[in-house]
Amino acid sequence: MGNVVLVKKLNEIMDMKSYYSRNLIEKMPPGSVFAAKTLGGCMITAYKSGKVLFQGNEGEQEAQRWGVSSSTMTKNEPKKATGLPNNIGSLSIIGSDEVGTGDYFGPITVVAAYVKREDIQLLKELGVRDSKDLNDVKISEIAKQIKNIVPHSLLTLHNEKYNKLQASGMSQGKMKAILHNQAIYHVLGKISPVQPDGILIDQFVQSSTYYQHLKGQKNMIKDNVFFSTKAEGIHIAVAAASILARYAFVQYVDKLSEAAGFTIPKGAGKQVDEAAAKLILSKGQDILPKFVKLHFANTEKALNLVKRKKG
Ligand code: MN
Repeated sequence: MGNVVLVKKLNEIMDMKSYYSRNLIEKMPPGSVFAAKTLGGCMITAYKSGKVLFQGNEGEQEAQRWGVSSSTMTKNEPKKATGLPNNIGSLSIIGSDEVGTGDYFGPITVVAAYVKREDIQLLKELGVRDSKDLNDVKISEIAKQIKNIVPHSLLTLHNEKYNKLQASGMSQGKMKAILHNQAIYHVLGKISPVQPDGILIDQFVQSSTYYQHLKGQKNMIKDNVFFSTKAEGIHIAVAAASILARYAFVQYVDKLSEAAGFTIPKGAGKQVDEAAAKLILSKGQDILPKFVKLHFANTEKALNLVKRKKG
């Protein structure tokens, strides 16, 4: 007799509410849309987040009324974003993710990757998981193994182009939205006529903002697109995408290191200010737009360091 959690859209929740109209109870927990208790003793609570809890007697049977079989029901699992199919983890999915948005040095890399359901197990065995749990050596090992198995598209927004777009007033969010959409479009082309069961984007803005960013773009992909934060944990296609994007980013920064003549640090901390100052002192300030994201606060910090060193 387990508790069952379903994730439903608001209109579906309103349907449920009218279905249980005779069983509604007045005392509702905070954040809930309705609470009801069936004659059989099942307690149903629907939340604005989209979660619907079925507790107590006949919880599973009650939940099944709402169009899911018990194998696809989530039982006390971590929360998923509203509207995701409950069995999304086992479907054939295009996942997409980006790397480098918080790094002062280096580009933004975005990868969309298609993982069909038959390959999920193989990728797990190859060690594909959240790239944040893997070091760069491991990431490069895994990336080399999966890049020929997983149809994908890699887009790299080089620093010079990034800085031009940024200076023209484009937000990083908009750049990312355009890159994700384009990468997904490329993958859809690569796997055609096969269609994925869905597309899952590691969420960086609300979906409404995402589509706002894409206004005026051709080839806007909207059908079957889902957004979730921490999407690497929801479908392995996003984890694969994040590994491939991280691999491309690391390789690019290696090239920057070669060009600089010293190891370029990642991130946006103090070592990064030091490295930028070193670069300015050896190659001049004009080289910066090829290496960094100019609008980061690190630029000013580096210039101050240079002044102090020269002064
Ligand atoms: Mn991400």
